Amino acid sequence: MSQFSFETAPRIICEQGGANRLGEISRGVGISRVFLVTDAGLIKAGLIEGAVASLQAADIQVTVFSDVLADPPETSVQAAVDAARAAGVDGVIGFGGGSSLDTAKLVALLVKTPQELPAIYGIGLAKGPRLPLIQVPTTAGTGSEVTPISILTTPSHEKKGVVSPLLYPDVALLDSLLTLGLPPAVTAMTGVDAMVHAIESFTTRLKKNPLSDALAIKALQLLYANLPAAVSDGKDAQVRENMLLGSLFAGMAFANAPVGAVHALAYPLGGHYHLPHGLTNSLVLVAVLEFNLPVAKALYAELGRAILPELTSAGDQAAIAFVAAIRERVASMPYAQTLRDAGIKEGDLPMLARDAMNVQRLLVNNPRDVTLEDALEIYQAAY
Ligand SMILES: [Zn+2]
Repeated sequence: MSQFSFETAPRIICEQGGANRLGEISRGVGISRVFLVTDAGLIKAGLIEGAVASLQAADIQVTVFSDVLADPPETSVQAAVDAARAAGVDGVIGFGGGSSLDTAKLVALLVKTPQELPAIYGIGLAKGPRLPLIQVPTTAGTGSEVTPISILTTPSHEKKGVVSPLLYPDVALLDSLLTLGLPPAVTAMTGVDAMVHAIESFTTRLKKNPLSDALAIKALQLLYANLPAAVSDGKDAQVRENMLLGSLFAGMAFANAPVGAVHALAYPLGGHYHLPHGLTNSLVLVAVLEFNLPVAKALYAELGRAILPELTSAGDQAAIAFVAAIRERVASMPYAQTLRDAGIKEGDLPMLARDAMNVQRLLVNNPRDVTLEDALEIYQAAY
């Protein structure tokens, strides 16, 4: 039997309305002057009001940073770090989608232990300690609240990741009431991203382990079953909580059993075209599943039986039924379905394929080796 190790956040709270207790939760991890990292859209939607009131009621000084940009550029993270340092904060709350949570991780780290971003891209290069960190996701989603990864966009339009156990938060707080107002397309894109995390974690080549497997199966069951309802009726708090839990489980899984070619091929699309992360994954998902199918049949059959109770066979048919079920679910989502419809230029595909080959950090996890020619063919199939 293979050896494995597994890490996650030390404390996870799932509580409807829990954001209104952030004062008490922050005090619990020793915060008295907090830097709340969010984006302008959440402020406009009034979503941070309960959190801020709770923090102030607990006599915590609050500095709100709402300039987080999607696909955070290095400059935006540096601006947040500078603002946090100027405010003299002793703790950080990430409050929002993946970009806010990823920015919050690096603020907590770099305010306490200054270091240059380009020097810490990669695995295990960052040095600690960091400030206390609480993560509150408002999409279901990235799972960023329980991953040790922060993804930024470099000045050369590459997506690069800082990966370090220092980036796990002290507390991850799931409050489904914060997600009731997400528009259908955002719900759909982020939900499919979470499904991809579960699928790619379960089929990962190097660090597959029984804990990640159990979480990935449960995540995919929750996400596959609840996504259509979350997209069609966003106001159901239980459906929304199921999506947040699915996203959390998938995040815990892939933090320890990393994602593969879907993400590796999605990153160049985000880097060059600034499309949402979930959409870029969705655009290449089915083409990658079909590419992997010849070597991943047994694993895809297991996933198929997990989400389609009527499937009983372990053979090729179950694997094919799994890919068909995912294809159908993705096709029903309210956003662009092909690279062409998403505005990608056909002449860019060779450049995108070359960029994808630079994401070896993830390609090594894919169940099937991906060559430059394979990457181009997958993009062409998705066009
Ligand atoms: Zn993702």
